[in-house]
Amino acid sequence: MGRIELKGISKFFKEEEVIKDLDLTIRDGSFTVLVGPSGCGKSTTLRMIAGLDEQTKGEIWIDDICVNGVAPGNRDVAMVFQNYALYPTMNVYDNIEFGLVNRKVPKKEREKLIKDIAEIVGLSDYMKKKPEMLSGGQRQRVALARAMVKKPQVFILDEPLSNLDAKLRHQMRTELIQLHKRLGTTFVYVTHDQVEAMSMGDEIVIMNKGVIQQAASPMTLYNDPANVFAAQFIGTPAMNVLPYKGFKLHSAQGKSQDIASFGFRPEHALLNPQDSSEGLRLDGEIMTRESLGAENIYQIGSPFGVFSIKTFLEPLVPDNRVNITVPYERLYYFNTEGQRLKQYEIRQE
Ligand code: ADP
Repeated sequence: MGRIELKGISKFFKEEEVIKDLDLTIRDGSFTVLVGPSGCGKSTTLRMIAGLDEQTKGEIWIDDICVNGVAPGNRDVAMVFQNYALYPTMNVYDNIEFGLVNRKVPKKEREKLIKDIAEIVGLSDYMKKKPEMLSGGQRQRVALARAMVKKPQVFILDEPLSNLDAKLRHQMRTELIQLHKRLGTTFVYVTHDQVEAMSMGDEIVIMNKGVIQQAASPMTLYNDPANVFAAQFIGTPAMNVLPYKGFKLHSAQGKSQDIASFGFRPEHALLNPQDSSEGLRLDGEIMTRESLGAENIYQIGSPFGVFSIKTFLEPLVPDNRVNITVPYERLYYFNTEGQRLKQYEIRQE
């Protein structure tokens, strides 16, 4: 089993609190991705789970064991880093075998295990080669294989693909997803790239400044963001968030809240709709156009501010004046703290 629980975790480096009272449950067998801007505390969180850093406060549980103070080697966790951390003087076989040091696995068993794993990650023909003779993707596979021979309950991967070129990164993403399916083990994966997070994770944890903004499935994050940060972190171009003063939202229970801003995704705006679609009208002027082949991105200037829209067909736009309609059900509202307001009805005061 590989269920991880972080309970009230804080981490200080000197005076600076880089992780702030973090609570998180990582499901056994999940592919959980920690994502957020550089410096938000992703690696520190991983390192605390692995036991490489110790939290200042709080408890970490792996299954039903509290691992506070337990050495990294005794946590049943294997880590794969972005710089591979391979031994340059050892060949592939020895590098993989190194994962078994101190495990007292008999030689015969060791050989079989390494052979099987080399096959899974596609390294069988490279066992005698030194790391310097391998491509970036192959090195990454050696690092994975070295983690796999330990048969850990939890794999921890810290930006493992960031040193690879775009094409190989894409291929390795698919391979990692398949590997996760095959092993059924918990993967905890760190990246700053939201596209990577969305394409790989079944659970995504968005972090900012040492605080979890939202932890949910990719579709929930896309459809149901909890706040402005989560809303704008997922999706390209980012969700438009524009100020919206002078409106209040009213709940069925009679409570009211000031709206500070509203948001919509660029792909949900309708450009010059032919029918009289129900929605918020935002008329404006095209400032820039970007054609990416399958899709077009426009920057529109409007009295509400500048926003972007994305369309998948080249629409007829006779001049730069356009009318934009955002269907009401595609609108999001946020309060002054940037929290999403849900289940409220909008009224102008
Ligand atoms: P991320 O992985 O999201 O880029 P990190 O977890 O590496 O972020 O870092 C979080 C914060 O902690 C950053 O402000 C970073 O400068 C700081 N930090 C990380 N490691 C150390 C360290 N060993 N000593 C002091 N500050 C550190």
